Parts: sequence; C-alpha cells; structure tokens
Amino acid sequence: SAFLYCDQLVGDFEQVIQKPVLNQSSVYYTGIDLGTAYIVLAVLDEHYRPVAGAYRFASVVKDGMVVDYIGAIRIVKELKQELEEKLGTELIYAAAALPPGTFTLDSGAIKHVVQGAGFEITGLLDEPTAANAVLKIKDGAIVDIGGGTTGIAILKDGEVIYVADEPTGGTHFSLVIAGAYKMSFDQADQYKRDFKNHRELVPVLRPVIEKVSSIINRHIGQYSVKEIYLVGGTCCLDGIEEMIAKQTSLPTYKPQNPMFVTPLGIALNC
Ligand code: ATP
Repeated sequence: SAFLYCDQLVGDFEQVIQKPVLNQSSVYYTGIDLGTAYIVLAVLDEHYRPVAGAYRFASVVKDGMVVDYIGAIRIVKELKQELEEKLGTELIYAAAALPPGTFTLDSGAIKHVVQGAGFEITGLLDEPTAANAVLKIKDGAIVDIGGGTTGIAILKDGEVIYVADEPTGGTHFSLVIAGAYKMSFDQADQYKRDFKNHRELVPVLRPVIEKVSSIINRHIGQYSVKEIYLVGGTCCLDGIEEMIAKQTSLPTYKPQNPMFVTPLGIALNC
C-alpha cells in the first residue's frame, strides 16, 4: 500500500496518545498543529518514533489565522505540561505549521504562540509539506480537509509546486447537519464524528462535498494531476473519497486514519 509508512506512524501515534512510551530518548521533537478545530501536539523520540501525543478541541484559529493568542498559548502550555509529566522530561524543541498562503501574514503569530508556551522553535513549514513528510508522495495533489479550511498542494517529482487554502471544511459539514437534523452545532459535530452515522450522512452532505470537489477542480485545473490524496479530520468521513473521485474524475486515496498525518509531519520537520 502507498500508505504503509503513514498507517504505521499514525497507528503508533494513536496508541501513544492513550499510553505514552517512556524510552529515555536523548532528545524529543514536538510537532504543534494549531487547527481550527483542534490543537494537536505530537512528540517523537530521537529515532522519530511517536512516544506521546495530546489534543484539545479549541477555537483559537479561524480560517488559518490565530484569533486568540492568549487562549492558544494557554492550551499549548497545558498540553506541553501534561505530556512532560507523562514522559518525565522537559520538552524543548518544537515545530509548527501554517496553512498554505498565510506565511507572510501569520508566521509571526504562530511563532509567538510556540515560544510563548515555552518551546524553542526549530521548524516552521506549510501544512501540506508537513503532510507529505508522512505521505511521501512524488506526483499528485494532497487535499487536507480540516475543520475550517481545505488546503491543496500539488506535487511534481517530490516538490510542492502549488499551494492553496480555501475557507470550507468540517465546520461547514457540521453546519449542514445542524440544519438538516435541527441540532445544535456541537450535537451535529458529535453526530458527524460517529462512524455509525456516516452512511446515512453522506447523501445529506453531498452539496458541501460537491463544493469541496469544485474547489479541488478549480485549483488543480491547470496542472496535470493524476491522483488525489486525502488527509485531515474531515476525510475520516466514510465514502468521501468515492464522492470526490467521482466529482474530480481522478483516483482518490486516503490513509487508514487521515486525522493525525499533518501533526506527525510537523514533528518530523522539527
Ligand atoms: P484546519 O486544518 O482547518 O485548521 P484542523 O487542523 O483543526 O483545522 P483537523 O483536525 O484535520 O482540522 O480536522 C478537524 C475536523 O475533522 C472537524 O471538523 C471534525 O469535526 C472533523 N472530524 C474529526 N473526526 C471525524 C470523523 N470521525 N468523521 C468526520 N469528521 C471528523
């Protein structure tokens, strides 16, 4: 499978979120993903193997921009402390990522959050490049459907040649469900995350998946993309890959768990 390394790494990471590995590494690398929906910290050891991880639901980022600095610093600090207690060591080095296209605008903000939480920042990269450190794709498009946005990166011969980020993501999926089922946003989001409901939800979500597909089509139009690779929490939705494949007329693949690919890729770039 094209996702052998990815599935192994994410699988290991899911385990260490539950039960950290105390392995006396000489150095630890932390990847920090400040998302619209979640803040994720992924910790790797000196051999770049996952040893611990933690995440928190947070709304400190909107459309890829930090809108609540104080809140962001507080949450990253708390997650750092929680992981340090579990591992019995101080976490020093961290890398972070930004949605494509926000670099000049927001890299200062992200840096301040990471440093404000007590880390030394050793890497700052864009999210699709981070994801590709795990996926290792040579040619094709990586589509990262997160909470607030959809990021697109086109790769040619292993290099990112085009990036884009558009404000449509899982939040909009939850809003559609809230409307259709007369639920609150939080109820709808919870309902959406339950895999038991996915088969029933796909037809309800068709219009918003079509919107995402049209965004993908618009951005990949001028390039000869042959394959699409899906990452990001929203791609957990069963059947989303088939619908996107149909609407883009391109083979579309996703790893077993598309959720933690980006934070792990960030940590690999620490
Ligand atoms: P962004 O990349 O937009 O800044 P983020 O990094 O917080 O946001 P992710 O963590 O990749 O985004 O994904 C969060 C989204 O994934 C949320 O909308 C959440 O509801 C959705 N999600 C998480 N788990 C599932 C699931 N099992 N099924 C469907 N959607 C899910």
